[in-house]
Amino acid sequence: MADNVQITVVIPVYNEEKNLTVLYDRLVPVMQGLGKSYEIIFIDDGSLDNSLVILKKFAAEEQIKVVELTRNYGQHAAIMAGFSVSCGKIIITMDADLQNPPEEIPELIRVMEEGNYDVVGTIRKGRRDSFFRIFPSKIINIVARKITGVKMHDWGCMLRAYRRKVVERMISCHEHATFIPALATVFGKRITEIEVEHEERHGGKSNYPLRKLINLQFDLVASFSDFPIKLIMYGGIFLSLLGVCFGIVLAVARLAYGAVWAAEGVFTLFAILFVFVGLQFFALGVLGEYIGRIYMEVRKRPEYVIEDVHSEKGKE
Ligand code: UDP
Ligand code: MG
Repeated sequence: MADNVQITVVIPVYNEEKNLTVLYDRLVPVMQGLGKSYEIIFIDDGSLDNSLVILKKFAAEEQIKVVELTRNYGQHAAIMAGFSVSCGKIIITMDADLQNPPEEIPELIRVMEEGNYDVVGTIRKGRRDSFFRIFPSKIINIVARKITGVKMHDWGCMLRAYRRKVVERMISCHEHATFIPALATVFGKRITEIEVEHEERHGGKSNYPLRKLINLQFDLVASFSDFPIKLIMYGGIFLSLLGVCFGIVLAVARLAYGAVWAAEGVFTLFAILFVFVGLQFFALGVLGEYIGRIYMEVRKRPEYVIEDVHSEKGKE
């Protein structure tokens, strides 16, 4: 059976107990309607609620595998863990909160097969998220387009389809802090995008507070470029030049207007100083971010650890 699976759906799950049953009820008929062999892989990313209990019940079905991770490794590492046990020729990723309607899957597959694409990305039509979630996404989409050089419009939507070879190449790369849609652009040649519906989260709340969101976006930028460091470097050079110019202006003005004027300029100098001090801290922060990542990388800790794989097939 494992060898002839045509479609694999990979779904990372972190505290989604409110959504899993509805997801299952919508996803399974869609998969059955495809008329192709399929498997659904749920990855329990160290959920603290009842998600794993619900998932284990699903695993009684032959087409469903549940990967249990030892703790919370994050959405992208969880997907990688799912990839590592997948068998399908086409692999679909999607979220568990029903923001990505399962009903879009047949269209993804159709486009991939007809166009012989390696990766089919998606653009969320009428995105149902708060302004605070959409605005950072807009910025990151622009940045991602620039640094990867791939003209994709929506990097954040995880409802995507990948060919087996792309997934295998991604697995073999053993990278920490990955951002899968961006990584796939390195390993896939023929890439396209289609529009898909976007729904409100069915239940529970987003797992991405601002802190995690910033971290994820940094994963995307830092794993593809040293742009932030360059920015600091060029910014530093520019600001130093500006500082020198200020110094010259102040010196000239002091000569022209005398010491009284210069003393009154003390506060301006302080203001400038504060700007510089702030920038230095910012620069240190960026450097720290990189050093932290190097530290993670040299420790060679596994990207994820699979505790167990629950499936009917395994029991044979
Ligand atoms: N997720 C995960 N591990 C995490 C955070 C999220 O597996 O540490 C899963 C989550 O269960 C969902 C998907 O990743 O299936 C997207 O998460 P969420 O809906 O919270 O993100 P948002 O839609 O707010 O970007
Ligand atoms: Mg969501």
